[in-house]
Amino acid sequence: MASRRRVSIGGATPTLDTLDRPLRDLRLSVIDQCNFRCTYCMPRDSFGADYPFLASSERLSFEQILKLARAFALLGVEKIRITGGEPLLRRGLESLIEQLAKLTTTSGKPMALALTTNGSLLAAKARSLRDAGLGRVTVSLDAVDDAVFRRMSDVDMPVSRILDGIETARAVGLEPVKVNAVIERGANDSQILPLVRLFKGTGVAVRFIEYMDVGGAGGWSNTKVITARETRDIVESVFPLIPIVVREQTGTAVNYRHADGAGEVGFIASVSQPFCGTCSRARVSADGQLYSCLFATHGTDLRPWLTDTASVEQLAMAVRSRWIRRDDRYSELRSTQHRLESGKVYPTVRMSLVGG
Ligand code: SAM
Ligand code: SF4
Ligand code: SF4
Repeated sequence: MASRRRVSIGGATPTLDTLDRPLRDLRLSVIDQCNFRCTYCMPRDSFGADYPFLASSERLSFEQILKLARAFALLGVEKIRITGGEPLLRRGLESLIEQLAKLTTTSGKPMALALTTNGSLLAAKARSLRDAGLGRVTVSLDAVDDAVFRRMSDVDMPVSRILDGIETARAVGLEPVKVNAVIERGANDSQILPLVRLFKGTGVAVRFIEYMDVGGAGGWSNTKVITARETRDIVESVFPLIPIVVREQTGTAVNYRHADGAGEVGFIASVSQPFCGTCSRARVSADGQLYSCLFATHGTDLRPWLTDTASVEQLAMAVRSRWIRRDDRYSELRSTQHRLESGKVYPTVRMSLVGG
């Protein structure tokens, strides 16, 4: 590894890829294991008891993750989302969050810190996560009905446990809590209206995500995708919605307000209306691989720069040199290059390793 030479980097200049997309968001996967076996992400027949998950010694340490976060902050990242696998299974996560919460962006603002979780451990951890400095939490929940929930997540747990987690998160001030629901035709489309009904007027925004052909889940087919448009029609058949006008669409969801003012509902059209054109997200897996797209086939190993011999600036240069070559736009190409009808034609990184 090279010496600890200082490299001039960062400042106000954004780090742009070949399609002029700035590096703004970092998704950090802290563990590839999960206590759920959602059929669309980690189906039990592929992720059984003998699945070779990363050993704890293969996962990045908190010091390494912090160094990574500092390097991404130098490159213009303004928001870090902690994910997995199930991030709350990572022991001592609060101490990492405490350190990440102290970071500032290149414009001097505090780094926005969010976490995505299946909610099963949230009731127990919400307070300590808040105390550590976590800003926001997104809870994945695909059903209100107990039987449908158990079928989707393939776990022996009542849905009330997730609802308790959401309630506790709100009570301790981890707001606004968002709920993400993946909708799969024939599996949980019956839950669209119950989810909206349950959270209407509570301050919790529900966002519906189109079922994607992510790595690791084999059963995807476009016939199982309910488009955001279809989902919105179902919602609007009962709950009138008004679009929320934004000057510039940078997030993934298109958001609507209940006509009576009782909260928001969002729709994430990752398959039917991809948003690759504004995709500013980098992902780092729990073992230190940088992925420039959720559907990448392979990553860039950052571990050589995560040793004591390399500086944060050198690590940032390694990330930058990958980002400026980035040309990913898988979802935009999916329907042409990858033949939507017959599913995927090559394996992409598994969702549980790289994070959602
Ligand atoms: N375990 C945590 C959770 O479920 O929130 C964090 C990791 S999970 C991989 C992150 C997000 O990816 C979840 O909201 C999940 O619903 C979403 N996801 C997983 N597989 C998906 C798929 N096939 N299509 C769309 N979203 C998916
Ligand atoms: Fe686990 Fe989240 Fe994947 Fe479900 S979506 S299996 S909770 S990582
Ligand atoms: Fe971003 Fe890749 Fe998803 Fe397109 S397909 S939005 S480039 S992660």
